[in-house]
Amino acid sequence: MTQSKITSQKTIKTKNHDQNYDFDAIVVGSGMSGGYAAKEFCEKGYKTLVLDRGKPIEHGNYETEFKPPWEMQFRGKMHGDEIKENYFIQKKGHGVSDYTKHHFINDQENPYIQEKPYLWTRSSKVGGKSVIWSRQSYRWNKIDFEANKKDGHGIDWPIRYDDVAPWYDYVEPFIGISGSYENLEELPDGKFLPALPMNVAERQVKASVEANFPGRKVIPARVAHLTEPQPIHTALGRGQCQSRNQCGRGCSWGGYYSSVSGALPAAKRTGNLTLTANAQVQEVLYDTKTGKASGVRYLDTVSGEITTVSARVVFMCASTLGTLQILMNSTSDKYPNGIGNTSGMLGHYIMDHVHGAGANGTVPGHLDSYYKGRKPGGVYIPRFQNIKSQQGNYLRGFGYQGGASRATRTTAGRAKQTGIGKSFKEANRIPGNWRFQITSFGEVLPDFNNRVYLHASKKDQWGMPLLVTNVAYGQNEEIMKQEMMDSAVEMLKAAGLKNVKGYNKAMAPGRSIHEMGGACMGRDAKTSYLNQWNQSHDVANLFVTDGAAFSSVSCVNPSITFMALTARAVDYADKQLKAGIL
Ligand SMILES: Cc1cc2nc3c(=O)[nH]c(=O)nc-3n(C[C@H](O)[C@H](O)[C@H](O)COP(=O)(O)OP(=O)(O)OC[C@H]3O[C@@H](n4cnc5c(N)ncnc54)[C@H](O)[C@@H]3O)c2cc1C
Repeated sequence: MTQSKITSQKTIKTKNHDQNYDFDAIVVGSGMSGGYAAKEFCEKGYKTLVLDRGKPIEHGNYETEFKPPWEMQFRGKMHGDEIKENYFIQKKGHGVSDYTKHHFINDQENPYIQEKPYLWTRSSKVGGKSVIWSRQSYRWNKIDFEANKKDGHGIDWPIRYDDVAPWYDYVEPFIGISGSYENLEELPDGKFLPALPMNVAERQVKASVEANFPGRKVIPARVAHLTEPQPIHTALGRGQCQSRNQCGRGCSWGGYYSSVSGALPAAKRTGNLTLTANAQVQEVLYDTKTGKASGVRYLDTVSGEITTVSARVVFMCASTLGTLQILMNSTSDKYPNGIGNTSGMLGHYIMDHVHGAGANGTVPGHLDSYYKGRKPGGVYIPRFQNIKSQQGNYLRGFGYQGGASRATRTTAGRAKQTGIGKSFKEANRIPGNWRFQITSFGEVLPDFNNRVYLHASKKDQWGMPLLVTNVAYGQNEEIMKQEMMDSAVEMLKAAGLKNVKGYNKAMAPGRSIHEMGGACMGRDAKTSYLNQWNQSHDVANLFVTDGAAFSSVSCVNPSITFMALTARAVDYADKQLKAGIL
C-alpha cells in the first residue's frame, strides 16, 4: 500500500443557493445513474454538486476515437505485461483494449480483496461505465418485480412494474433507444426509435426459431443508439449513429447514449450544475441533531485535499459496490456499521447476472448477400422459461443476445488465415460464411450470504478502507447455465445451422458487469435498507439510486432501469423538498 495522499482539509463555504447549505443536492457519481440524477435536479432548478472520483472527460475529445490500427502500438491489442501489471482484473471482463483501456481503472492502483473470486469492473473517468457500456436496453417485466415474493428468495420489492413504467416512458425518449414493437408480456415495449434492421442470416434464424419453438421470439436488439435523432437529442448536439461500432472509445456524434453526451450536458445548460472530478467521496456525514445526512466528505485524488460540503439531499450513484463502500465507511455513534444501517442489511444480497453460456454456428447459404457498413446491435431472444408457470428444475430465467455477420480474417473460421502481398489482399476481399452466435444473461437468485464488507485495516492510497467481496453462485445458477447452453444448441440446430458448438464457461460473479444489491429496497425497515422511493428508511434525505438499491436482478441488462428509478426518486425528493419535509 502506498502512503496516504491526504495533505490538507477544508470546508466549502459557498452557500450559493440556500443560506444553510452549500448546495441543494449532492450527487455522488456521474455515470449512468448519477448523470441522470444531476440532469433531473438541475432541470428542476436545484443547485447541484456532482462529485466523481474519475478523471475529467470532455465530450467530443475522446483520445483514441479516430485512430486507425496502424497508429496504435500493437494495432489496438494490449501488451501482455501491461495487462499483468495494470489491468489484471479489468481485462477479464469485456471491452478493454488498447483503444479503451484509459476508460477503465488501473487495478494496481485500485485494489480490493476477493475473499471469493469476484470481477469488479470500474471506470476511470467522469461518466462512469456509461461511456463504455454495450448499450443494450430492455425494460423489466411484471414478473421480475414479483419473483422474490413468489418464490421466497430475497426481499419483496416495494414496487411493481406499473410503478416504474411511467418512468421508463420518461427516460427512454431522452436516451434514444432503437427497438421494434413486439407486444410481448415478457419484454414490454417502450418508446422506441426505429429498430436496427436484421440482416439476412438473422432473419433466417428468426423464422426458423419462431417456427420450431412457438412462444420464442428473435427480435432486433434494443440499443441506446440514435437511429433517427429527435429534437430532444439534437438540442444537445447529439446526432445520428454512424454505425462505426467503435463505441467503447467514445463517440463525438453522441450517436449512442452516455452520461457525458446526454445527461451531463443537459444538466450543465441549466446553469445549476457544479461537476468536480478527481473527487473520491469517502463518507456521507450524519448530523445527530437533525437525524439527517448533512453532506459528504471527499478527497481530491490529485492534490490530496479533503473537503466537506453540505446539501439538503444526498443521492448515492457511485455504482453498486462503490456506493456500498462509501455508505459502510460512513460511521457515527448512531450508525456504527454504516449510515442508515439499523437493519444490518447493508452489503448483503449482492447479485449480478450469470453469464458465459451460449452457442454459435454457421448459417448455410446467402453467400450473395452482404451488409452495408457495421451494425451496433444484433438480435435478442427474450426469456421464455418459467413465465406462466414453473417448468424447469431451476427458478427464474434467462435471455440471449447475439447476431450474425460474415466471417472475416479476424473472426471465427478464418482467424488462422495468414499470408502476404497481393494474393493475401485478394483473398481477404472475399468474406467467409455467415456466422451466428448467441450468449445469455440469467437471473441470479438473491442470497443474503452474498455480501461485501470493508476490511478492518487495509486501505487504499487515499485512506479508503478496501472492499472485500464474498459472493458465489449457487446450484440454481449452475443448473440454469447448463440450460442456457443446451437451449442455445437446440435452437441453432433446429434453425439449420452447421457446426453448432455450445459453450458453458466458468465465470466468476461480477463478470456480467451488472452488479446490483447491497442496499435493497423493501417494505420493512427491519429487513431492508431503502423504502419504495430509493430513500433510506433511517435517514430521510439520503437516497441510493444505482444498482445497490435493487432487490432482484431480472435477466435483462439493468442500466435503463437504474435511470428510470433515479428519475422517479428525484421526482419524489423534489416534492418532499418543496413540501418542506426534507
Ligand atoms: C463493457 C461494458 C458493457 C456493458 N454493457 C451494458 C449493456 O449493454 N446494458 C446495460 O444495461 N449495462 C451495461 N453495462 C453496465 C453499465 O455500464 C452499468 O450498469 C452502469 O454504468 C452502472 O451505472 P452506475 O451509475 O451505477 O455506475 P457507473 O456508470 O459506473 O458510474 C459510477 C460513477 O461513480 C464514480 N465513483 C465510484 N466511487 C466513487 C467515490 N468513492 N466517490 C466519487 N465517485 C465515485 C465512478 O467514477 C463512476 O463515474 C456494461 C458495462 C461495461 C463495462
